[in-house]
Amino acid sequence: MGNVSKPGRYTGGEYNIQTKDWDQADIRVALAFPDIYEIGLSHMGLRILYELINDHPKMLAERVYAPWPDFQALLRSKNALLMSLENKRDLNEFDVVGFSLQYELSYTNVLTMLKLGGIPIYTSERAEHDPLVIGGGPCVFNPEPLADFFDFFLIGEAEEILPEILEQIRKWKLTGQTKAELLRQLEKNSGVYVPAHFQVSYEPDGRIQRIAPLTGAQPERAVVRDYSGAFFPKRWLVPYLDIVHDRVAYEIQRGCTKGCRFCQAGMIYRPVRERPAAAILESLKGLLSTTGYEELSLTSLSSADYSRIEELLTEACGCFTPQGINVSLPSLRIDSFSIDLAKRFQSNRKGSLTFAPEAGTERLRRVINKGVTRENLVTASHAAFKAGWQKLKLYFMIGLPTETQEDLEGIADLAFEVLKIGRQYHPKGNALRITVSVSTFVPKANTPFQWREQISIAETIRKQQFLQERIRGRQLELNWHDPLMSHLEGILTRGDRRLAKVIETAWLKGAQFDGWSDQFQFELWMDAFRQEGIDPSFYIRGRNYDEVLPWSHLNTGLSKDFLRLENERANQEVLTSDCRTDSCTSCGVCSTLHVSKKIEGN
Ligand code: SF4
Repeated sequence: MGNVSKPGRYTGGEYNIQTKDWDQADIRVALAFPDIYEIGLSHMGLRILYELINDHPKMLAERVYAPWPDFQALLRSKNALLMSLENKRDLNEFDVVGFSLQYELSYTNVLTMLKLGGIPIYTSERAEHDPLVIGGGPCVFNPEPLADFFDFFLIGEAEEILPEILEQIRKWKLTGQTKAELLRQLEKNSGVYVPAHFQVSYEPDGRIQRIAPLTGAQPERAVVRDYSGAFFPKRWLVPYLDIVHDRVAYEIQRGCTKGCRFCQAGMIYRPVRERPAAAILESLKGLLSTTGYEELSLTSLSSADYSRIEELLTEACGCFTPQGINVSLPSLRIDSFSIDLAKRFQSNRKGSLTFAPEAGTERLRRVINKGVTRENLVTASHAAFKAGWQKLKLYFMIGLPTETQEDLEGIADLAFEVLKIGRQYHPKGNALRITVSVSTFVPKANTPFQWREQISIAETIRKQQFLQERIRGRQLELNWHDPLMSHLEGILTRGDRRLAKVIETAWLKGAQFDGWSDQFQFELWMDAFRQEGIDPSFYIRGRNYDEVLPWSHLNTGLSKDFLRLENERANQEVLTSDCRTDSCTSCGVCSTLHVSKKIEGN
């Protein structure tokens, strides 16, 4: 390990680790995260699965993260394979290798991990004794670019269905049937999508003509129907390294009803379901006492919307503040209620508060269904500065549908207005800082904007340069996303099966850790597109409603009519109400997936 940076990434042995007897387990699952340890361990979904599987007496789950290039070189020099952190077993010894696919720019890391783990990258090249390679997470809502690398995908929420699937795999191992027979059985479960069971044909112009099922099953998203009693870890892993989110994070609700038209998470985790406050507090007491953490975050897509948030925070602070534990909400709405909450419960005001107006003008915020006014932002900024915060982060997107020059100017205007307010409260405050963070809008599958065009690299650069010229000065900082990375993300996120070859070619040329600016090599990707004869701009173009989309055959519960209507309402700048507080807007999820929203306060 001599010259390897951060060897602690590969040693395991963390507090609360679960190392079970390898020989006693009937089913052995490697939970694989295609990014480094510090990011992977911060991810809650894998923590849930880790303990859920390990709680089963006959099953075992171990972790493996993407090794940094220096450790990859070490493995190669020693002729060693990538191993799990717990029992130090090679990846190809497991029955199942399950990847968590959180972002598209980690796709090449999947191939690196398979290769280093001694597993052929293509499903078609794997033998009966090779592990089943499965994928889950938000990317599998359009998994098509990865279709050739995965035996099956688990679309949606795993807590209820995964133990059942693993049990079926356990029984299959005893029967001696083939993998093909197993996959035919597994696809009867909700959530299971076997890409090899679908055949895609194309029009001469490259659009998809048809996605034909070979076995008859239509994949439907898995959903946790009893979220109140849904599994949550009791033994929180505590690392020896600093990780991205180094705290106890507790998911208080799932789903979001705000209906922002660009937001994939808000669409694919519907309906909203809240966990009972009493159960949250009970679990937290246990988690905090067994970890020693002094920071607790109550997470969800929009935590301030939890119906009993005030009561929950009051009780949490009553229990934990005397023990020196800081309670925080990571996502705040832009309103005074949120600031009031933050003021009362977030004792550390040295950090920054983040507001997400998303767009520079009220018109564009109506287009995206973000019903936030300039007035809301002004009031929230006054409240935040008055309460002692000196650092505010404002989060925006460029390239949103219908965006004009006026909308871009609006971003700069808002930044200056917030700065002006800050100076009223902190006239001599050298610590006063407004950070404007601007990302490029990437249309995602299963959102109302899934048919929209993504702006080109040149257009992105032009808009970024405009903002760089406008947003300057002491106490103002502008951050923006790499336009080349956003371009690649846009291609992969709405891509089809033909991209597997491009991903492989780029990877063979050396692409990996594409989400890391010091590793990303855009030219390798462009070379790969050229070599495979694929035009990358084909994938960022706008689509017609009648076009077969690469994910059209997957049933997420969202009705096409709803998504289409929302896309039309965007053009008309019409807001759609929130089904938490107003009536159902007929997105289709509850009736299709036989689930209902659950609001504790009702
Ligand atoms: S079906 Fe209705 S109640 Fe259910 S998530 Fe959609 S809009 Fe909300």
